[in-house]
Amino acid sequence: MKIVQEKGPIIGENIADILGVVRSTLRPDFAFLTQSGFIEARPRVGYYYTGKKPISQVAEFVQRFKVDDWKSAPVVVDEDATVYEAIVNMFQNDVGSLYIVSDGGILEGVVSRKDLLKIVLGQADIHKIPINIVMTRMPNIVTINVDDFLWNAAKKLVDHEIDSLPVVKPGFYNGREGLEVIGRITKTNITSVFVQMGNVDVL
Ligand code: ADP
Repeated sequence: MKIVQEKGPIIGENIADILGVVRSTLRPDFAFLTQSGFIEARPRVGYYYTGKKPISQVAEFVQRFKVDDWKSAPVVVDEDATVYEAIVNMFQNDVGSLYIVSDGGILEGVVSRKDLLKIVLGQADIHKIPINIVMTRMPNIVTINVDDFLWNAAKKLVDHEIDSLPVVKPGFYNGREGLEVIGRITKTNITSVFVQMGNVDVL
């Protein structure tokens, strides 16, 4: 946007050169910026700034959604559970990620579908192996605070290439610092917001 504003009209190839990427990487950006009317493209001339400034309004609108309003219930498994019990739990609750907790709700780990597939393929005895061997553990878990904005959660999902984030409330539990798991934000929650935003009946 800034490059087009300052150097436009400018062709996509040159914008890609300035940013040090190949042109095809920018296709979604060009699509968003032209479809939303912020920039326009003219054949053999390039992209130029339209002078409209609605971008901040769109950003402000998107930034209004709160994690607390869109979170789903978390599906948690005790850290003493076996891999077998975790797999059954995942099917029963129809989720793609489970959060492993201690003391009834303090975040210790995350397991995804592929973590479980991997251990099953290894032909280990899943009735004996504890889930905490398989999980991604604290402090390597990407979380989102309950009073944070949904856009930040969406950005974390994209940046870390993961499917879900535990929604947490930091505090002291049984005398030690920890994160209580009170929800989850998945790509499905983010998709729901996108659908809501396009629903003219409610706007
Ligand atoms: P899948 O592995 O089924 O594609 P993900 O992309 O969510 O699902 O998970 C990829 C890897 O990242 C897995 O090893 C998983 O344990 C880990 N992971 C999943 N969610 C998180 C998270 N919120 N924080 C840190 N690691 C995570």
